[in-house]
Amino acid sequence: MRRSLRLRDKSKDIQSASAGPSTEDRKRRRSEELDDAEEEPSRTSVKKKAKKSRSDEDEEPAAAVALSKEKKKMPREFRKVRGNAPLDIFFEIFMHLDPGDLLRLARTSKNLRNVLMSKSSESAWRAARSNVDHGLPPLPDDLSEPQYAHLVFSDSYCHNCLRQRKCEKVLWVLQMRCCKTCASHLLTTLDKVKESLNVDDRLADVIPYVFVAGHEIDKRPHYMSYRMVSVSTARNYKAEFDGLKSDEEEIAWLDRMKKIQRMQMQYEVLYRDWECKKKRARDQELAVIRGQRKADILNRLGELGWREEAEIIIHPRGYDNFSWHKLVHQSKKLTDRVWNNTVQRELVQMLTKHKTNRLSYGGCPCCKDSVR
Ligand SMILES: [Zn+2]
Ligand SMILES: [Zn+2]
Repeated sequence: MRRSLRLRDKSKDIQSASAGPSTEDRKRRRSEELDDAEEEPSRTSVKKKAKKSRSDEDEEPAAAVALSKEKKKMPREFRKVRGNAPLDIFFEIFMHLDPGDLLRLARTSKNLRNVLMSKSSESAWRAARSNVDHGLPPLPDDLSEPQYAHLVFSDSYCHNCLRQRKCEKVLWVLQMRCCKTCASHLLTTLDKVKESLNVDDRLADVIPYVFVAGHEIDKRPHYMSYRMVSVSTARNYKAEFDGLKSDEEEIAWLDRMKKIQRMQMQYEVLYRDWECKKKRARDQELAVIRGQRKADILNRLGELGWREEAEIIIHPRGYDNFSWHKLVHQSKKLTDRVWNNTVQRELVQMLTKHKTNRLSYGGCPCCKDSVR
């Protein structure tokens, strides 16, 4: 409970950060949040974790000071972790990982966590980002390295309610991944905000938004899409805007907010591109694995004298009953055990039946196109 409250506070912080405090403020917040950024719900009891984080936060500034005094000297945390291993070995390992690996590593022990969450490890996070294929977009201005890694790589639970469920989508207007239920509380339509907060059009125009299809918001029609905004961002913006004293101030503020909005939306586009590239590459990989499985199965069937029958069914380009058979069309390498236990028996049965039918009816409707 405490944990989720803290996370919620953090999300508020981040949103008010985008409402435009100075760069200094953001930097300070970033270092304060290093710890919060990457917690996972299932690690230890909530109470214990909260306590643990506190003490981590206390330790960090000391490490940062020591580091700035003697740049080359080993950070205090490293001395605890490394035992007799040279410092270089740790960096050498970090350099080969991606940010998701670093997050998991940081969760394995308190010392590693301290090392990885300290400022001195920023280069390791940067290197880790450069190891990500297909060009992960650069670190956004208002996120720390661990926060960004958390956003991109922790997709197995809702960052708001912490319930374990796959959260595929990063909601950039919230800078988090969350479940549908949480999204429905944290987001609302721009129209609603305009009405309930009495937001004027100039202000409405600069609030960051995302288009969401109707069926993803309660029971609206799927062909409609709605401008959704973060409820708390809208509130913060409204409060800031109302506090401005002169026309000049308003113009400057609106201008700044417009830039933040544009940046966020450009970022979202970059991120979606990256996700698409990643997905395409993954799909290709899986297709290769499926192709290998099919070839493997054909070879094994060949040894049993059934390859020819399978090849009669196989269509060179389109759909056919063999290639798309549920035991053939899988992106999993075939093992001897699975072959012996089920695949061999079922496929031979299927091919036997096919051959019998084909011969007794003088042809087969399912594969007439592929008989050459
Ligand atoms: Zn949730
Ligand atoms: Zn057939």
